[in-house]
Amino acid sequence: MNITILNEQFSISDQVSTQDLKQLADQGVKVIVCNRPDDEASDQPSFAAIKSAAEALGMEAVHVPFTAGSMDQSHVDQLSEQLATGKRIHAYCRTGNRCKNLWAASRKEGSTNETAGLSPSNSAAKPQYDVVIVGAGSGGIATAASLLKRKSHLRVALVDPAEVHYYQPGWTMVGGGVFDAESTRRSMSSLIPKGVTWIKQAVEGFAPEANKVILADKSEVHYDYLVVAAGLKLDWEAVEGLPETLGKNGVTSNYRYNLAPYTWELVSQMKGGKALFTQPPMPIKCAGAPQKALYLSADQWLKKGLLDSIEVHFYNAGGVLFGVKDYVPALSRYMEKYRAQLHFSHNLTKIDGEARKAWFSCKGEDGSEQLVESDFDMIHVCPPQCAPDFVRSSSLADEAGWLEVDPQTLQHTRVANVWGLGDVTNTSNAKTMAAVRKQAPVLAENLCKVMDNKEPAVAYDGYGSCPLTVERGKIVLAEFGYGGKLLPTFPKWLNDGTKPTRLAWELKAKVLPAVYWHAMLKGHEWLTAPAESEA
Ligand code: FAD
Repeated sequence: MNITILNEQFSISDQVSTQDLKQLADQGVKVIVCNRPDDEASDQPSFAAIKSAAEALGMEAVHVPFTAGSMDQSHVDQLSEQLATGKRIHAYCRTGNRCKNLWAASRKEGSTNETAGLSPSNSAAKPQYDVVIVGAGSGGIATAASLLKRKSHLRVALVDPAEVHYYQPGWTMVGGGVFDAESTRRSMSSLIPKGVTWIKQAVEGFAPEANKVILADKSEVHYDYLVVAAGLKLDWEAVEGLPETLGKNGVTSNYRYNLAPYTWELVSQMKGGKALFTQPPMPIKCAGAPQKALYLSADQWLKKGLLDSIEVHFYNAGGVLFGVKDYVPALSRYMEKYRAQLHFSHNLTKIDGEARKAWFSCKGEDGSEQLVESDFDMIHVCPPQCAPDFVRSSSLADEAGWLEVDPQTLQHTRVANVWGLGDVTNTSNAKTMAAVRKQAPVLAENLCKVMDNKEPAVAYDGYGSCPLTVERGKIVLAEFGYGGKLLPTFPKWLNDGTKPTRLAWELKAKVLPAVYWHAMLKGHEWLTAPAESEA
């Protein structure tokens, strides 16, 4: 028990045990106030146990429970009532912070000017955390879990308005008829790590100079350290006519939970005609996903003997099949096997679902641009992607709008108490969940070092992975880091990543989802030990 005396009447501490109560009684405490709801942590004594031990020592005990960030007027009123008795009071919660904020608010009500023991940032009882994480997707939750694994006392808040958390890598498998869509989602509340406060709101803006974020309802959350893990924006509107026709007229995308089942519906019902698959300009999340949709669809048509009557086209805004050349030969062989026609430097700009027509802007070798039209029976669209608007418009962004962080330490390059990981950052790795799995321990380790007044000690090597589902049952497992350096997890004799293998399929279909839900999001850092920094 770490006691802080705020004035003659009032003291606060972290969790009190029944054995600590004697010390408080000896100090003249007459009332114990508990600001912690029961069952916040498994090692926490119940309020009933504290009350009966306090009463045995001649003290009263009052329960005024609330979670961090959820203090309201009724809590203030209850403490004000106790303060008005003039009795000596000791309040406790997990760290003492809630008690301090409540005391400050109660005293403000009583219009006293005394601010003993309070820092300016919490004197108005604003929610204050050691670490605020923006975004509770793959990166946000993994980082919260990895931070608490290292420093269990940290006050961490995850800010995210989403009720549902998705395992997005599973959507390729949903579109390929392998996974059930339902298996790729969980309620957000079931995944927020124990001890972390979930603030169910969108962040609207940053004020790094004042160490706070501004929420959609205009309230503010203050922090000592900020982690930005807000993912990226799928810019459906950037393709004229696309939002109106998504999910009908043969227009689909594995990039949305509710559309991936429609991909499989179209593929399994198609008997003949023209199927288009599109890929926008980089960077996008999971750069292999647009062609994965093609492979799994064409494999189904091949196995059903339908490929002679289905034309397959791949329209790619880029100039190569895959950014790391070692994987291209295996992928090219599959494109040939499926007789897919490749159209490089073709960027989807407009679509008319009802007329079943798509238009691509195509750059000629002389730099001239022309519009190419194609009809279709089904089209799988990968949408253009960019940084979220509230990040892009903030002072934390680089010129292209992405969060500007050091590619190795993941610390912001200009604001020392800001960190970032995942799709939102400007690092040059493949934007994948596999990258996030490696980044979260690096960020947590380095941030904890900085909290201890030390230098960041470990480095992210740019690892990302793209399991290319070239056919049902086989995967080309691309694993690489910064500069396209191959970083295979397994020795070549066990799994050669440049070739299609069954082992890699088993990994994607069975092992990785379990690793995601049960290890990565819980701070178990399996096969992710960060390398020492060279700096
Ligand atoms: P996300 O997981 O997207 O989370 C971002 C979070 O931020 C969301 O919860 C969102 O609600 C929240 N947020 C957004 N705006 C705000 C705001 N204003 N305030 C507060 N919160 C906000 N990766 C692989 O490794 N392998 C694969 O095979 C693979 N396949 C993929 C296939 C598809 C079809 C897709 C779509 C993705 C695939 N990925 C794959 C990529 C992977 O899912 C992402 O790279 C990963 O989820 C990124 O994690 P993140 O935390 O950065 O973002």
